[in-house]
Amino acid sequence: MTYTPTLPQIGQWRSAAELAALQDDQLALMLKWAQRSPFYQTRFGTEFPTDRAGLSAAPLTTKQDLRDNYPYGMLAVRKADLATYHESSGTAGQPTPSYYTAEDWIDLAERYARKWVPITPDDMFLVRTPYALMITGHLAQAAARLHGATVVPGDNRSLAMPYSRVVRVLHDLGVSLTWSMPTETLLWAAAARAAGHNPGTDFPSLRALYVGGEPLSLARRRRISEIWGVPVVEEYGSTETGSLAGECQHGRMHLWADRAIFEVYDPETGRISRDGSGELVVTPLYREAMPLIRYNLADNVEVSYADCECGWLLPSIRVLGRAAFGYPVGGAKITQNTLEDLVFELPVAYEVLFWRARADADRLRVQIEVPDASRDAACAALTDAIRRTYGVDSEVTGVSPGTLVPHRVLTAVHDVVKPRSLFGADEDWDKALLYY
Ligand code: AMP
Ligand code: MG
Ligand code: ZN
Repeated sequence: MTYTPTLPQIGQWRSAAELAALQDDQLALMLKWAQRSPFYQTRFGTEFPTDRAGLSAAPLTTKQDLRDNYPYGMLAVRKADLATYHESSGTAGQPTPSYYTAEDWIDLAERYARKWVPITPDDMFLVRTPYALMITGHLAQAAARLHGATVVPGDNRSLAMPYSRVVRVLHDLGVSLTWSMPTETLLWAAAARAAGHNPGTDFPSLRALYVGGEPLSLARRRRISEIWGVPVVEEYGSTETGSLAGECQHGRMHLWADRAIFEVYDPETGRISRDGSGELVVTPLYREAMPLIRYNLADNVEVSYADCECGWLLPSIRVLGRAAFGYPVGGAKITQNTLEDLVFELPVAYEVLFWRARADADRLRVQIEVPDASRDAACAALTDAIRRTYGVDSEVTGVSPGTLVPHRVLTAVHDVVKPRSLFGADEDWDKALLYY
């Protein structure tokens, strides 16, 4: 089975001008689709943008707009033409809806599948992100199916899939590709060790770990790769948009600018530019069910049009996200990203996988899980690194493995049973109905 794409593909444009022309053509069509959206009808009335100049004058669409128009206020097709409905993660309360047609799903699946370690029909692909409401699990599933891989649906939020099971399928099925948040891959490493496996040598089928969904520092990424002995391939996306950027072989994340128009919004000045630092604004070009015009994802990013050796001629992005947010400690600003780097720059032999920290006013309190043998060395090295980097005192405590991530979480098995109401005399009928 070979798949013949109909949408733009990397390599198809040979200059920035060609890429812009691709965008302009599709933008005109997409803005026609948007005229069927009740939300945009109200917003633009008879003054509808029809081209790039109109787009540049349009106000931003916010997350709050999506919430205010829950559930179907952004719907631009017949409800019968929808293929999936999703809601983004985030605060309980107001849901942020997103919907897609089957046609929209071709674009979604293709964008996700742009991986420099590609998905092939020979792959066993473990999808370890949620299937409930969010898009992420479905994205990976669709991309894997598109390229003929075998999907192992391992939802990370499902009680049916504790870590012991993840390790079993990774090992026994010869899983070759995985999709998860970076943190998951460290939890698997600990669970694999708890099951008597060595992550680096006992999973020979593994080819790459696809990760996304949370910020990942350079040192943590290197450590994950070192532990599993395979490349870590990062991507960036959201439920409201699908995949927005993915890595080239040279380790840069590129925005899929043939499928969406990207801009950067500076909330302080209100200025919107094509590159620089600020909040990412996205205008998806191939989305008919729920067109979005200048949607502000409100993620802190840096966008650059500097050349990259890959020759894709796509802008690159650094996603700062939470990483940009710092806590003050004794005159220094501590961010998760920089601290994460220090933790994962500790020698691999110290076996530190899990940590947490709290920024008290006068000192930083850090706990690392570390075996007895390397406890003193690890704590001393991290205290030193923190002093050197931030010039502040810290209280680094080495806690026993199992303190931050309980051993039972890594080893527990969970029966997957169906509901039942009738029980025998010697059975526990507290299990009635609530089968999970
Ligand atoms: P959701 O809309 O619930 O699917 O979550 C999407 C959000 O996860 C994005 O808006 C980002 O804040 C975050 N995110 C996704 N991928 C990355 C990444 N590679 N690096 C940092 N943050 C990410
Ligand atoms: Mg979101
Ligand atoms: Zn590149």
